[in-house]
This record gives sequence, structure tokens and C-alpha cells, in this order.
Amino acid sequence: MKKIKCPDCGADIDVPDDVMINEIVACPDCGLELEITKIEGDKLSYQRVVVEKEDWGE
Ligand SMILES: [Zn+2]
Repeated sequence: MKKIKCPDCGADIDVPDDVMINEIVACPDCGLELEITKIEGDKLSYQRVVVEKEDWGE
């Protein structure tokens, strides 16, 4: 298991060893979603997933 730190709340986020690029992991504490952008051995790069709030008109 790899770990990354949540940029928002600082919690450790567990990432499976077989994680793939573009996979989304969510912070267990605050729910922030991060997209894995790069994998180099045990080092993971990631970026926030920007969720645009859509109004579905319901
Ligand atoms: Zn968090």
C-alpha cells in the first residue's frame, strides 16, 4: 500500500500498490478527490479533481 497526503486536511490516503495513472482516490477524512498523474516507484504525483457543480434542473 502506498500513501499520499491530502493537500486539504493532511490525512494519509491509502493508495493500492496497483494504482493506475488517472485513477481517482478519495480522502477518507474530507472526501477530497485526487487524480493520480504520475507513478515513479513509490512516489506518486497527483492533482485535485475539480468537480464542477452541475445543475441538473431537477
Ligand atoms: Zn482530506
